[in-house]
Amino acid sequence: MTEEQIAAIVRKAFLETLVESPGDTGDDDNPAGVFKSPRSQAAIQEMIDAGKKLWQRQYVDGNGGNLSYRITDKFVLCTPTLRSKGDLTFDDFSLIDLENVQLYGTRPQTSEIKLHLEIYKTVPEARAVIHCHPPYATAYAIAGILPPSNLIPEQEVFIGPMAMAPYETPGTWEFARTVVPFVKTHNTVLLINHGIVCWADSITHAEWFVEVVDTYCKTALIARQINPELPQIPPDKVLDLLSIKKKMGLPDARFEEAEKHSALPHVASSHMQLAEEESSVTHHNALPTDLEAKAAKVTAEIVRLLNEGQKSS
Ligand SMILES: [Zn+2]
Repeated sequence: MTEEQIAAIVRKAFLETLVESPGDTGDDDNPAGVFKSPRSQAAIQEMIDAGKKLWQRQYVDGNGGNLSYRITDKFVLCTPTLRSKGDLTFDDFSLIDLENVQLYGTRPQTSEIKLHLEIYKTVPEARAVIHCHPPYATAYAIAGILPPSNLIPEQEVFIGPMAMAPYETPGTWEFARTVVPFVKTHNTVLLINHGIVCWADSITHAEWFVEVVDTYCKTALIARQINPELPQIPPDKVLDLLSIKKKMGLPDARFEEAEKHSALPHVASSHMQLAEEESSVTHHNALPTDLEAKAAKVTAEIVRLLNEGQKSS
């Protein structure tokens, strides 16, 4: 066995002791244990940071907008009602199940969380959801018009053509279900007369998508004032972008049609790979920095002792 293999086994054993330690029972059915676990605390910190970015960019006005993280298959961490997303603290968050029953936390969850829950139930890959009202994307949503497609590569790769969900009263299950027909093939949906919703594999990425979409809508609006007939990315080059997108595991309503005609070429690699980006929660093996340092120290010590043992035997 190589030193690397031994180190991997030791690290795994150390992680298992962590999961069994108080505050993280490793029992995914225990709401208090799940809420206090290092992964939940890291997820909450990620939501606090994303909330600040959304507020600074003026995507969440007043108490508007909401964020959530599916932390286990059954449990979701979410933001509370009546709180600015720029001022969130750890005590604001609660843990709920997929039927919107609050299991841990003292502040009532946002009523719009039902929208998030319907997305989690429909799309297993969705781990994080952000709903907000960014002005330019919301302007298209209240105008009832989808922005033009194929103008900027980043938009096509990360988002692609958006869908428009019909209007329903916010906070109701009827409202929540309006997005269900679209979310398997779209990570971003415009909510007519309301705002937008984005899902991703982490809150960090969902927040990126909000930024990409709103900037795209703003740029398209300005560009159309300069030239009403905007030049589009050529169709064969759009296929290149779709190929990159497929490799990144992002959804797109155009995949089915492109695959029917075997039109998706293979693209070896791209600088825009989400997989290379670090998110504290997406990588289930990743630990908070202090624990990572502890794990490295314990691993090194055990490998040293094993090596000594081997020499003396
Ligand atoms: Zn809203």
